Amino acid sequence: MTAQMKTQLFCLHCNRECPHTITYVGTYLKQVRCQECGTHIEMDRRKILETYTAEVIDRVLTKPHRITEEARKDLSNFMRSLPIRILTKPLRVAREIIEVVRQD
Ligand SMILES: [Zn+2]
Repeated sequence: MTAQMKTQLFCLHCNRECPHTITYVGTYLKQVRCQECGTHIEMDRRKILETYTAEVIDRVLTKPHRITEEARKDLSNFMRSLPIRILTKPLRVAREIIEVVRQD
């Protein structure tokens, strides 16, 4: 079960707010992708747990019924605070994915 949402979020690579596609698997946030630069963040819950408390994870990564302004701010602040080691997909891979998507 995957679901996608689009929203404005802070991009670590562009260093500003850009349109992002958010992918949820089941009830958990799985991936956030910047539509501007293609930076592709896989949310690895285990790695995130090493850095953040369960409370932060539940608030930020659990699928809201809809993206409220509050949830959007939480997620944007969360991404701004992400250590780079949580980014599991190199930018090169993200660019390849964007190229594949563009060919459709
Ligand atoms: Zn970006």
